[in-house]
Amino acid sequence: MRVSILAVGTELLFGQTVNTNAAFLSKNLQLMGFNVMHHYVVGDNPQRLKETLAEAFDKADIVITTGGLGPTQDDLTKEIVSEYMGEKLVCDEKVIDDLKAFFEKFGRKMSQNNIKQAYMPENGTTFYNDAGTAPACAIEKDGKCAICLPGPPREMTWLWNNGVKSYLEKFLDKKMFYKVIRTIGIGESDLETELLPVIDGQTDPTVATYAKEGECAIRVASQRDTLEEAENAVNQMIQRIDALVGQYIYSTDDEELKEVVVRILKEKGLTLSSAESCTAGKFAAAITDVPGASAVYGTGFVTYSIDAKVNQLGVDRNLIERDGVVSSTVAEAMAVQARNKSGSDIAVAITGYAGPDADDGYKAGDAYIGYATSEKSGYIEVHTGAARRDWNREGFTLRMLRTVYLLIEGRL
Ligand code: AMP
Ligand code: MG
Repeated sequence: MRVSILAVGTELLFGQTVNTNAAFLSKNLQLMGFNVMHHYVVGDNPQRLKETLAEAFDKADIVITTGGLGPTQDDLTKEIVSEYMGEKLVCDEKVIDDLKAFFEKFGRKMSQNNIKQAYMPENGTTFYNDAGTAPACAIEKDGKCAICLPGPPREMTWLWNNGVKSYLEKFLDKKMFYKVIRTIGIGESDLETELLPVIDGQTDPTVATYAKEGECAIRVASQRDTLEEAENAVNQMIQRIDALVGQYIYSTDDEELKEVVVRILKEKGLTLSSAESCTAGKFAAAITDVPGASAVYGTGFVTYSIDAKVNQLGVDRNLIERDGVVSSTVAEAMAVQARNKSGSDIAVAITGYAGPDADDGYKAGDAYIGYATSEKSGYIEVHTGAARRDWNREGFTLRMLRTVYLLIEGRL
């Protein structure tokens, strides 16, 4: 089934409001197994709304509008959509009662123009709105369906979850199942090349790669007669993908790297500490974003200056003077010392240039990540190639997580 989304509101065209409704609906429709064809945005203008509606129905079976259901003169979506679908609007007494109760709750009197919101399509379906004043509605005619949702995201999502989503189920003849695989250490184009044997000529399951901040994800989706069949098809495809790019996969359940790291540390009964220079606590923040991180993480040193590295961590000042503060030996020494001082099983450390400037023949985005365990210590070199400070600090943090992941998986 082809669905398009038509957002109504001049504020959207002015860039004053971001069209989050379209993103929400697209994501959720996609998850249900609908094909989302187009997003349209139109101002509060009846003529252009009419034209856009016709255009949308030309290429889709279902059109979902958001916005323009308010009580004021420029809120015309329901009126225009009903006219287009050949439906009459009639007064729904229940909506009048709901509106009165809504205003009473806030100690206000309902204004006369709110009555407009109680006029619903005569042969349509009304979705009563417990989260605001504007009910939503659906009109079906000649194999087409129009659904009007209010603009305020809170009301729109409430109505989606309380009626609209289940109403849409009947339009789906197949069940959808999907999984998201997350990978690190491979770029999107290389990943796609490696996956060509399963991507080429695919029909079902579909395999799609997409880049996600500093890493790549693979979405495997199947639509079959039953959910069980779809799930089996996805799981079989995941096995094929694992055979091709297994070495880069860290989750087949759409987990974030920090979640996976904390989970594995817990499973293995290991503790972790960190010493950060250029990320200055971002790694500590990332790890402690994960609920239950306290079971595996206790100490994070932020040692930004040379003095802090010497005084707080106990890194040898002579070593810093000899090799430079950004060096593999200092990164490794920071990790070894963080482990010694904290008593953790594993430690990770970083020293580098976040940018935009760098020193000593280094470029912004160059860093060393040190690591230490009871058995070994070492370092990895990082070159993000980016000049932007915020990107580098994010990229460094992700690479620290990756280092810990590889270490605890026995792959470093
Ligand atoms: P309306 O239902 O047109 O009266 O919209 C009411 C409010 O909802 C607007 O002022 C916006 O703040 C918000 N809104 C409307 N359309 C959208 C949209 N597509 N995405 C996010 N917010 C929206
Ligand atoms: Mg509006």
